[in-house]
Amino acid sequence: MSFDSLGLAEPILKAISEAGYETPTPIQLQAIPLVLTGTDLLAGAQTGTGKTAGFTLPLLHLMSGTGKPRPQEPRRVRALILTPTRELAAQVEESVRTYSKYLPLRSMVIFGGVGMNPQIDALRRGVDILVATPGRLLDHHQQGTLDLSHVEYFILDEADRMLDMGFIHDIRRVLAVLPPKKQSLLFSATFSDEIKALAERLLNQPKTIEV
Ligand code: AMP
Repeated sequence: MSFDSLGLAEPILKAISEAGYETPTPIQLQAIPLVLTGTDLLAGAQTGTGKTAGFTLPLLHLMSGTGKPRPQEPRRVRALILTPTRELAAQVEESVRTYSKYLPLRSMVIFGGVGMNPQIDALRRGVDILVATPGRLLDHHQQGTLDLSHVEYFILDEADRMLDMGFIHDIRRVLAVLPPKKQSLLFSATFSDEIKALAERLLNQPKTIEV
C-alpha cells in the first residue's frame, strides 16, 4: 500500500516523498481515509507510530481543498492542534511545516515560558494552523490576541498525557470558546474512563481506531 492510493493532494505527496516516506504506517492507513471523510475520530496510538502524519496529512488535504485563494481576506486560525508539552508542540509544528511545504498554508507554534510579544506579532500576521500548549493558548485568547472563532479542525494530541498533567480544566475552557461545528480528532495512547468522558464531550459520532 502506498501513499498515492490514499487520495491526498499532489503537493502533500511530493512533500512526504521528499521526507523519505514510502509506505504509510498502520495508523496512517486507518486514520487518513477516515479523517478525509470529515468524521470525528477517537484514535488509540502511541508515539512513534506515525500518528502526527496520520492526522496532519488529511488535515492539510482538507484545508487546501476548501482554502481557495482569497488574497483579500486575512488568514484565520482554521486548525488548532493542542499538545501537552512545549517539546511536542514544537515537534508537531515542525512536521506540519514539512508536510505543508508545497501548500499556501502558514503554521505556527505557541507555548509558555517565552515572551508573549513575538507570538502576538506572528499571530497578527496571520496563521492557518496553530499548534499550542493549553495554558499559553488561553493566555492569548484572554488577552484578545487570538481569535478562535473560525476553527474548523480541532486535534487533541496525547490526550492521556494532558489529563495526567492536570490540563482538564484548560481543555474544557478551550472547548468552550471553539465553534460548536468543527471536525475533532482525539489521539491518546490509553483509553481510561476519563479519556472516554472527554471523548464523549468533545466528539460527535466518532469513528474509533486503535493500533
Ligand atoms: P510520530 O509517531 O508521529 O511521532 O512519528 C514518529 C516518526 O516516524 C517521525 O520521526 C516521523 O517522521 C516518522 N514517520 C512517520 N510516518 C512515516 C512513514 N510513513 N514512513 C517513514 N517514517 C515515518
